[in-house]
Amino acid sequence: MNLPLTFSCASDLRKFLEAERISGKGIGFVPTMGALHEGHLDLVRIAVEENDRVVVSIFVNPTQFNNSIDLEKYPRTLDKDLQLLADLPKVIVFHPTKDEVYPEDDKFQPIDLNGLDEVMEGTFRPGHFQGVVHVVHNLFQIVEPDNAYFGLKDYQQLAIIKWMVKKLNLRVSIVECETRRESSGLALSSRNLRLNQKEKEDSTIIYSTLKYLQSNYKDLSPLEAKHEAIAFFNRGKLELEYLEIVDPVTLKQIVSWKDGAVCCIAAYCGEVRLIDNMIIC
Ligand code: AMP
Repeated sequence: MNLPLTFSCASDLRKFLEAERISGKGIGFVPTMGALHEGHLDLVRIAVEENDRVVVSIFVNPTQFNNSIDLEKYPRTLDKDLQLLADLPKVIVFHPTKDEVYPEDDKFQPIDLNGLDEVMEGTFRPGHFQGVVHVVHNLFQIVEPDNAYFGLKDYQQLAIIKWMVKKLNLRVSIVECETRRESSGLALSSRNLRLNQKEKEDSTIIYSTLKYLQSNYKDLSPLEAKHEAIAFFNRGKLELEYLEIVDPVTLKQIVSWKDGAVCCIAAYCGEVRLIDNMIIC
């Protein structure tokens, strides 16, 4: 097994990439918090297809956690992660310390996110998205990727990253990747490691609700559809935090159907917080 070359020091990574920055397909970047699963690996595989070199970062970013228990319990499985990335051509790993990502001369300034951070996840996780844009911004400064890969699983995060790239005029293409699910429909997530089999089964209510909505929205207004979907969801065992049907770009609730309208759900299974979404029409 060939484990990937791993860097923990930003300047070493920069130097290494400098030598690689030749004209061609360029450098791809897949930021992650580790505890890798097939969803992450899908992103890496797409990046490998489309680039000469792929950097996968593994960094559990403290600034995006507003709950210290969630941060503490977040799974950290570096050895296994490196094994999952073994034998993938072109891949190198960046596994920095906090000081490498947030140096003393950190130039990042909070960004106006145009209200995208004031709905859904933003309501329940204050400060989360400023933490996300901060870490992604700083990682972009280190890696200077041509293409960066993000999952649709974190729909609001993806919308916000796209906004940041536009607002700061960053020279990186953002590539959106489909959500990888278990055969039950449960979206893969590092947090699923904290679910037992029964809880995993209970958690399929999220996917069932999204599919129910997709099949039944046509005769209803978005508001009626939302109420129906919440009633459907509440037949299951999870505790709903929010279910919203929103505009795909502004993330504002819609009052009439439009192409790409997306339903986003956050719910607790016991102590584990799960999110998912689906394009409804
Ligand atoms: P995370 O490690 O949770 O920060 O995720 C790193 C990247 O992987 C993000 O762009 C996520 O949206 C993406 N991702 C996480 N889970 C999935 C999944 N089930 N399918 C596709 N992409 C995913």
